[in-house]
Amino acid sequence: MTRKECYEQCVNEVQNARLARAAKREEGAERLKKENPRFAEICELLSALSPKVARAAISGDTVELEHLKDTVTVLGKERAVLLKSAGIGGDDFACEKCRDTGFVNGKYCDCIKQAARELAVKNLAAVAPVDSCRFENFDLSFYPDADTENGNPKKRMTEILKLCKEYTLNFDPEKSDSLLFIGNTGLGKTHLSLAMAYELLMRGFDVIYGSAYNLFARMEKEHFSEHNDNYYGDAVSCDLLIIDDLGGEFVSPYVQSLVYNIINTRLLARKPTVINTNLSMAEINRIYTPRVASRLLGEYVAKKFIGSDIRQQKSIKK
Ligand SMILES: [Zn+2]
Repeated sequence: MTRKECYEQCVNEVQNARLARAAKREEGAERLKKENPRFAEICELLSALSPKVARAAISGDTVELEHLKDTVTVLGKERAVLLKSAGIGGDDFACEKCRDTGFVNGKYCDCIKQAARELAVKNLAAVAPVDSCRFENFDLSFYPDADTENGNPKKRMTEILKLCKEYTLNFDPEKSDSLLFIGNTGLGKTHLSLAMAYELLMRGFDVIYGSAYNLFARMEKEHFSEHNDNYYGDAVSCDLLIIDDLGGEFVSPYVQSLVYNIINTRLLARKPTVINTNLSMAEINRIYTPRVASRLLGEYVAKKFIGSDIRQQKSIKK
């Protein structure tokens, strides 16, 4: 689902809920007319009054107009009290700001923005374990505090966690760096990039997250079919694109050029990208051609994840 579709769906939901409430209110009022004679009388009086108000307004009889308006107000209040005591909802809106239209001055209301964020996270949760991958539950105790030939895993990962948090906090879709997370499987690359995606989606940024396998398969399918939902266009233009597990996909010549085009187009537009991979630079160079490797080396901030496979450690613990 694209960002635009997310917003459209939320507006539809808000407007449909408003119509449903209005229909329910109407139904309740009809029922109450049969049960409560005073309520039925008020409804009749009110509908008889409205043409009188219009006539007084047209004729310019201000004294009569004020008198009629007062009567309408008094009856309206009594009607509202009777409705409320019968448990029938009043004319209140779920969102007072936009009166459940979804728009304020032609722009999306805050209620829609919030709903769209939640929907975007829900959509992400359907394809990735976003709920269990947050900054709060990134467990540094799995990384040994010992010097190895690659460095001290605990120190390195503490540093990377801090970098990811700060990156998210200071995120600017036109200024932030692109990041390259390198390292073996099970060292937390997916965890940290999902945590970043979650935080940024909740702040209203347009984030697309996907495994290289899913992203490129979808784009390749789109490219070779009649139907085009412009997934490639969304991926190159979103605020942050996160490509998880680069190298986990089948690399056809088409995918090779796709990877280059995405990386290059986003760099030229100064749009940040986060790429995770288990591959070494030499392997990237070989699999995706030297021009991809040179872009990554020259333009991305690379961080090497070190330690031993956390998924294995967790399953041993169990
Ligand atoms: Zn609203």
